[in-house]
Amino acid sequence: MEEKDDLMDKLVSLCKRRGFIFQSSEIYGGINSCWDYGPLGVELKRNIKDHWWKCMTQLRDDVVGVDASIIMHPKVWETSGHVAGFTDPLVDCRKCKQRFKADQLKESKCPQCGGELTSARQFNLMFKTHLGPVEDDASIVYLRPETAQGIYVNFLNVLGPSRQKVPFGIAQIGKAFRNEISPGNFVFRSREFEQMEMQFFVYPPEDAKWLEYWKNERMNWYLSLNVKRENLKFHQHDKKELAFYAKDAYDIEYNFPFGWQEIEGIHNRTDFDLSRHSQATGKDLSYFDDQIKEKFIPYIIETSAGVDRSLLVFLVDAYYEEEVKGERRVVLKLDPKIAPIKAAILPLVKRDNMPQIAGNIYKKLKPHFNVFYDEGGAVGRRYRRQDEIGTPFCITIDSQTLEDNTVTLRERDSMEQTRIKIDDLRQEMERRIGG
Ligand code: ATP
Repeated sequence: MEEKDDLMDKLVSLCKRRGFIFQSSEIYGGINSCWDYGPLGVELKRNIKDHWWKCMTQLRDDVVGVDASIIMHPKVWETSGHVAGFTDPLVDCRKCKQRFKADQLKESKCPQCGGELTSARQFNLMFKTHLGPVEDDASIVYLRPETAQGIYVNFLNVLGPSRQKVPFGIAQIGKAFRNEISPGNFVFRSREFEQMEMQFFVYPPEDAKWLEYWKNERMNWYLSLNVKRENLKFHQHDKKELAFYAKDAYDIEYNFPFGWQEIEGIHNRTDFDLSRHSQATGKDLSYFDDQIKEKFIPYIIETSAGVDRSLLVFLVDAYYEEEVKGERRVVLKLDPKIAPIKAAILPLVKRDNMPQIAGNIYKKLKPHFNVFYDEGGAVGRRYRRQDEIGTPFCITIDSQTLEDNTVTLRERDSMEQTRIKIDDLRQEMERRIGG
């Protein structure tokens, strides 16, 4: 366990030191459970989202996207059940005044000081604010706690123009907010986070088939980005965990240093959401299938992943400490597709025209990949700096370059160096990074 705790500490410190993730408002002492992504973090996060978007919409014919507003009509959240039921049981310690989520406590006393706990009361996790200048009950709105509702209420808007036919899906990436009682474990649980959600509308008798299909697709997505198989598993919700409207539900869990935890939910939400919104608005949200001549309210298979949680998975899974020729190297073995920087371009020495040649290579590759130029210090040190942030390739310009226009292409994980013509670099990198 010690080693595992240690891993989180090391990762948090690497993220701060190398500009992946900072505590929000740090110079003011920080604000609990909010995080800012720095220059490398924002690239990593963007690459994850772009890859998800590409896999879930652009490479498919049956899923289209939306980008709904964060603030929605407050009735949406009454209809969805969030105003009444999006709550966690909260208990306070009478002695040290700490607050806990009751269902996460193993004992009935305070885990901090052993003090006596109050009985549990329900605490709604939605952030409230006011729309417009008057702060009264009529102007209360919520910051969305999930992106899904923005998809349900747009079902008809999307169905028409997209000319999709059931089965089809609508995807969305965006911020969500939850006033979590006990946030923590770095970006695993925060109060402001991003979700990547896809709602797939199906003919009700085919729900089980599609749930199985999306379970596989989503598990394969993590595997395709090189997350280790043994660190991933499905957890099926038992009767107690299952939302009252859900028919069947699975979480994809990851073996974090702090235990197995959910990273994505794949749920059969039945016709609950569309039926409720239909009843509340009087709008007919059913679908007429002209092949089978049947009208029905589609069932929804949801895939709901956290951007920040996935990012933490990719970092934890990729972190290695290795011994190389008697020296320790830290390396993030990130899949090249999501690595923040794809290649570092390094003149071996700062003379003999090497910086100029390196500069030209940099300029040639820059429009195609996020590349980085570095001429400072011993080349071994420069390699280590790139290993630590997960850069898959280092391109080194040396004396042989001056003779035959070749450079070395060093691969991060194997540290293997191949000589390659400058003109072939782009193609070779594209081949190795993959789609
Ligand atoms: P948990 O049980 O961990 O609170 P949940 O079951 O409430 O999660 P869902 O409502 O299914 O989570 O949300 C879908 C996904 O959104 C989660 O799998 C997770 O990746 C992400 N997510 C949810 N809450 C948070 C949070 N507070 N911080 C970061 N990501 C979150």
